Amino acid sequence: MRNLDELLAEGVKGRRVLVRADLNTPISYKPNDASRVTDDGRIRASLPTIEALRAAGAKVVICAHLGRPKGAPDPEFSLAPVARRLAELLKAPVAFAADTVGPDAQKVVSNLADGDVALIENVRFDARETSKDEKERAAFATELAALADVYVDDAFGAVHRAHASVYDVTRLVPSYAGYLVAREVQVLSSIVTDPARPFVVVLGGAKVSDKLAVISSLLPRVDKLLVGGGMCFTFLAAQGLSVGKSLLEEDMIDTCRTLLQDAGDKIVLPSDVVISDKIHHHAEGDVVPVADIPSDQMGLDIGPETVKTFATEIAQAKSLFWNGPMGVFEYAPFANGTRGVAEAIAACDGFTIVGGGDSAAAVRALNVEESAFDHISTGGGASLEFVEGKTLPGLSALDS
Ligand code: ADP
Ligand code: MG
Repeated sequence: MRNLDELLAEGVKGRRVLVRADLNTPISYKPNDASRVTDDGRIRASLPTIEALRAAGAKVVICAHLGRPKGAPDPEFSLAPVARRLAELLKAPVAFAADTVGPDAQKVVSNLADGDVALIENVRFDARETSKDEKERAAFATELAALADVYVDDAFGAVHRAHASVYDVTRLVPSYAGYLVAREVQVLSSIVTDPARPFVVVLGGAKVSDKLAVISSLLPRVDKLLVGGGMCFTFLAAQGLSVGKSLLEEDMIDTCRTLLQDAGDKIVLPSDVVISDKIHHHAEGDVVPVADIPSDQMGLDIGPETVKTFATEIAQAKSLFWNGPMGVFEYAPFANGTRGVAEAIAACDGFTIVGGGDSAAAVRALNVEESAFDHISTGGGASLEFVEGKTLPGLSALDS
């Protein structure tokens, strides 16, 4: 994989560099240019590559997606507020193109001076970006490539997708990995190939079915797999416990039972949970042993005894990967499990990785010190698929 330093060594002064960035940030939408970015973590993570290119005199043309618009322009998914926030962070103007590859994008790009930055509108406003038809994607990639001389992929959060702006475009212009992608690959590779032991994985989040593949792939390689979140209830059901109204994937119970049998003592499940009959901000949140979940209640967080057990395992880890919150952390009565686990991971002396997505959002929302983790991935799905050992289209495209 060729990286940005190699490109900078070749020289980029005056060259148009198309940077695919991951700027998929939460936006509070208001009409008339009043929308605001509510969490700029991903924009900040994109700065090193953009700043290095500017400093080297490139004409920086950034493209990105935001949310899931339906293949057509939609003001709610406009990157305009991202352009404003990016300009603040760069302390430099960002020329915003109101279309993606149309006349405005072409004009904005042709007006760039060396070291200037432009952001073109959401690539997903064009249905060809995510099309299953290779020819359609190739046609869109050709129009994107026409805006640039060189391509840099810095959108780790999108490398698991074979989309035009992360995959097809690499066939048309010389392509390089940006700093963010290079760092993600380096860090995540270390726990895939040769993790320091004990290697502990903490998994949570909503659905087991989303994470089954990663569980089966990790089991032979991990020393401990701590399971919390909504997904733990299917495992508890597989042990014969009744889980009341908790999240349960009935058709996964057999698979979970097999995983538990294969795992020996590697999989650690909660011993107590926080229950409620409603998800709301002022819920009582009683704690019960997992064997005593009432039939009319939901398990919405791991309990304090489980947090202690998990924290003890976490403290011994020499390397650790965490994906998925331990409870419905968005509501204070159910946030303690996620906070407790996040704090235990932050205090762990081993090499600690937070696997993006909602776990990274939880770290920020619960005000756990971000610098206490060795790495917070910017890609949820991408980091999970990488750790699972899958080939990611956007990365293999940079290799060939
Ligand atoms: P990630 O993005 O980190 O991979 P997921 O998207 O799989 O995680 O799941 C995150 C969601 O899981 C959060 O919105 C959280 O509220 C929810 N969740 C966690 N625990 C539970 C639970 N016990 N019951 C229902 N939902 C849960
Ligand atoms: Mg998620």
